Amino acid sequence: MRVVPRICIAVVLATLAGCSSSSDLGIAGSGVDGNGGEDQFLSDLDRNGFAVRSVSAGDEASCEQAQEGVGELIVEGEPGPQLYFDRKPLTQWSTAFVRVAFSDSDQTRLPTVGDLEDQLLGQDSRVSAYLNSVSYGQFELLGEFVADVTLDLPASVDGRAREWEELGTLSLDIPGFVESDYDAWAFVVVSDFGLGGSVSGLLAPEAVVVNGGPVETLCKYWASFAHVGYFAGDSAGAFQDTVNDTTAYVAVPGSDGLEVETETPLSPFERTFIHELIHTLEIQTHALSSTNGERMHNAEEVAGNGDYLWRDYGNRYDVMGTSEFSNGLTTLYRSLLGWIPEERSSTIGEPGVFDVTLEPLSSSEGIVTAEVRLPGRYFQGDPFVAASSRTENEGYVFEVWPTDDPYYWYPSLGLPGGAGGVVIQRTDGYSSALLDASPSANYQYSWGAEADIADVALKPGAEFDDGVIKVSDVVVNAGGSVSFTVELR
Ligand SMILES: [Zn+2]
Repeated sequence: MRVVPRICIAVVLATLAGCSSSSDLGIAGSGVDGNGGEDQFLSDLDRNGFAVRSVSAGDEASCEQAQEGVGELIVEGEPGPQLYFDRKPLTQWSTAFVRVAFSDSDQTRLPTVGDLEDQLLGQDSRVSAYLNSVSYGQFELLGEFVADVTLDLPASVDGRAREWEELGTLSLDIPGFVESDYDAWAFVVVSDFGLGGSVSGLLAPEAVVVNGGPVETLCKYWASFAHVGYFAGDSAGAFQDTVNDTTAYVAVPGSDGLEVETETPLSPFERTFIHELIHTLEIQTHALSSTNGERMHNAEEVAGNGDYLWRDYGNRYDVMGTSEFSNGLTTLYRSLLGWIPEERSSTIGEPGVFDVTLEPLSSSEGIVTAEVRLPGRYFQGDPFVAASSRTENEGYVFEVWPTDDPYYWYPSLGLPGGAGGVVIQRTDGYSSALLDASPSANYQYSWGAEADIADVALKPGAEFDDGVIKVSDVVVNAGGSVSFTVELR
């Protein structure tokens, strides 16, 4: 193996070729582990002899160093046509939970530590059930509440909810606390005034003090807000219980704002908690959509298409999207978390015609996803960027949405969604974007256009051809699996 001397010091997220600049994409595997500083990515990173080794600042890596991404990245070998990273299953996540309340809230309304423990970790926890389902029984959220603090601060600032950055330093008294017992912090901020924005990332210096000292190495965190009370504290307004309420009112596409009442499998708090948790597990992107009105995604863009060609959060069926229509989790992110092993996935990496049969993605057995990875088409066009950010090749992801899975509840909204065929997503090598396999014109409203992703599956009799791949001969089999033919040109 030839060794290519490409060595960078002080690598930040998504280092670009030549180490001259960096990008602001939030992508997996920054190459820096804030929690211990061990070498990462030492194993077979790709099947073609291209290896990346990341050495962070060492065992003493502080949160501050982790923030700055201090470390060293070594690339060896030359990339083949396909990059492929090992997908070791993530099986557990040990979390130090902290409940945070405000002194001016009506404390009797707010969930207690015991309530939250039951809700997030208990036997009947909907959060645990969700994580169990999307990981095929492989992942467990562990941990306990280590602190419960009531801040001597109002829950509101200038008439709006107080945000995470406005909590000041959280001073926690946790006798016997050992940072290395945990993978991350989860802060649950409860308020009777309103919802702050939930966030995840690495703790800012002085965000948290434990037993009078700074946090040394336990830097990963997520913070989810919960609101139980009148909106903006106004008792003439609506009472909200974002912790428990599973009734939702959803404006479906084409309805011009008319809302459909539906029951959801997760409360808004549970949904945002899971969304931020999954970010913390290194899925630092969203479930996107990629639509171009009645045209293919790669055709000349239709007028007034806004950002729909690559729309952040655009997959409304996914917990990493807006999750208005369902709370699914795309197979691409399940794969990145190692929950779909190689033998349950088909990969197409070279031109040809391939017959594929997929089981519904909630099936515990069989092939549940197929990926087309375009040879030589790396994330951002550069194998070095792709490798240093642990991304793979650009391409397509196929999946079959289940009809009997509570997290795919869109039929109750009267939406065809992904039923009755195969769902196609695009990937840039890291993010996943839902395509409309039967493109239809954007909905035009007085305020602008809205993409039509009410009906996305490629169904029997239809063909998807964007010039790069052609998908045809779709057959829905007895038992729910779907067969189809993929031609990679
Ligand atoms: Zn997010």
